[in-house]
Amino acid sequence: GRKVEFDPHRILEEIMALHHNLLTKKKITVIRDYEPRPIRLHAVEDQMRQVLINLILNATDAMETAGGTLTLRTRLAGGEVVICVEDSGGGIAEEHLQRIFEPFFTTKAAVEGTGLGLAVSYGIVRGHGGDITVQSRPGQTVFTVTLPARAMPA
Ligand code: ADP
Ligand code: MG
Repeated sequence: GRKVEFDPHRILEEIMALHHNLLTKKKITVIRDYEPRPIRLHAVEDQMRQVLINLILNATDAMETAGGTLTLRTRLAGGEVVICVEDSGGGIAEEHLQRIFEPFFTTKAAVEGTGLGLAVSYGIVRGHGGDITVQSRPGQTVFTVTLPARAMPA
């Protein structure tokens, strides 16, 4: 993959359109809290799409009971692009928090989860000079992806 310039909002909206039926079926309300200024991300587009799909599908998995809120937040701050994916699911157990980025760590049934999504996502984001962090408590989990607006040369 080669780095190109794109608007991460377009990728988020593509993912929302692709998973519209799933979100409707699960009665998930989507809140968009988007940076009003235009954001140009210089990154490998397919890789960034994969990261955001992983985070959004994890968020929908976490909201098993009927209803829930998925919040997509973007910010431009000090030359960095910040993308947050927040859900109102049950949260991540304290003893799991340290392990979720490990390859093959999963709390899902074997058919539902490979435990690779966050490990792969973390690798992609670090490969772009960025970082992924998580904050979680029962009822609110936020994954924050921070990327240099202009990533280092490929
Ligand atoms: P998988 O989704 O295949 O289990 P991931 O690497 O994507 O693998 O996630 C690893 C684990 O992290 C999940 O099994 C789950 O326990 C936890 N996790 C990730 N995202 C969330 C979330 N939004 N809410 C609660 N738990 C989560
Ligand atoms: Mg996953």
